[in-house]
Amino acid sequence: MSERKPPLVVSNVIFFVAVNLLGFVAAPIYGLTVGFSGWAWLAAAVIWIVSGLSITAGYHRLWSHRTYRAAWPMRLALAFFGTFSLQNSILIWAARHRVHHRHVDDVERDPHSIKQSFWHAHMGWMTRHWKTSEINFDEVPDLKKDPIVMWQHKLYWPAVWTLNLGVPAALGWLTGDVLGMILLAGAFRLALSQHFTFFINSLAHTWGRRSYNQENTARDNGLIALVTWGEGYHNFHHAFQADYRNGLRWWDFDPGKWLIAASSWVGLARDLKRTPSFKIQRARLQIRFQELEQRLAEDQAAPTWREALEREYQQFRETVSLWQSVQAERVQAGADAMRDRWRKTEFRTRFKDLEYRLKMQGRRLAAMQRSLQPAGLAGAA
Ligand SMILES: [Zn+2]
Ligand SMILES: [Zn+2]
Repeated sequence: MSERKPPLVVSNVIFFVAVNLLGFVAAPIYGLTVGFSGWAWLAAAVIWIVSGLSITAGYHRLWSHRTYRAAWPMRLALAFFGTFSLQNSILIWAARHRVHHRHVDDVERDPHSIKQSFWHAHMGWMTRHWKTSEINFDEVPDLKKDPIVMWQHKLYWPAVWTLNLGVPAALGWLTGDVLGMILLAGAFRLALSQHFTFFINSLAHTWGRRSYNQENTARDNGLIALVTWGEGYHNFHHAFQADYRNGLRWWDFDPGKWLIAASSWVGLARDLKRTPSFKIQRARLQIRFQELEQRLAEDQAAPTWREALEREYQQFRETVSLWQSVQAERVQAGADAMRDRWRKTEFRTRFKDLEYRLKMQGRRLAAMQRSLQPAGLAGAA
């Protein structure tokens, strides 16, 4: 990192100051003194939902990570509504995002590394001519072949102003509340939704649990998921970026995942990628082992605990290598064998068996962790 900061991107600074002043100062003053119509609230909510979901399911999971394939009507809708979010064209967004994943946390390469500062990861990376913010279109050769992506890229700026100013103004004219509509459904909705998305780069790399991978700063945070249509499960996402889901468990709030799944039922999406649950459990257990090892090392716990943990780890390694050999066997058997119902079921049972082993081991390790809480530890030692 150089001592002298690069020069400001004046247009971006003016834009952010204007939108935030309009959204967070002018809009509340107008709301308190004049008041907003119900139509303005409704438009703000609808635009916020459809544009946010388009960033999550479109910009992010479809175009940046290719976690599924979408038919053109769906791609068109995602590109159109995503333009409301004013987060740049799909092509630019995806190019930077792929670099973020490859070089996460690296201050020299990650476009918005949290290691530089919280502010830098949140917005600072867009307000100066940082070298890391430069766009490399070689990152997105696949997207250059998507006519909808290229069309959105070319028409981006006229489209942005038409949608963000023109649509609220037209809706305001129709409902007799032009200024209120522009301030609420335009500025306030835009400023708020931008900060929510920026939180994924700042807060979701600072605050939350790291259950799947502790080698980077990405964290799972259910609160951020609530306002970003499911993107708060960022530790899982950085660990398994090819997965169309971010919130893995059924109760995790992930409307992005639900939209993609629902689209696949009606034929708009296909080839949804899921990480095998064995791999997910394996990652979780690996973290549990690390945590337990650390705790035992710090607390000089009784040797019996250490022996128990070693036995567990031995078993874990055996299960993993068994899984790998079943996997290899299945690959060797080839697609033909998988057409045979008995063979297919036989493989499935063996995989399920191994998954179950990991699940049970996870429970034992969780119990061990609870027993090793400070009070229990005092008893054990
Ligand atoms: Zn991502
Ligand atoms: Zn990230």
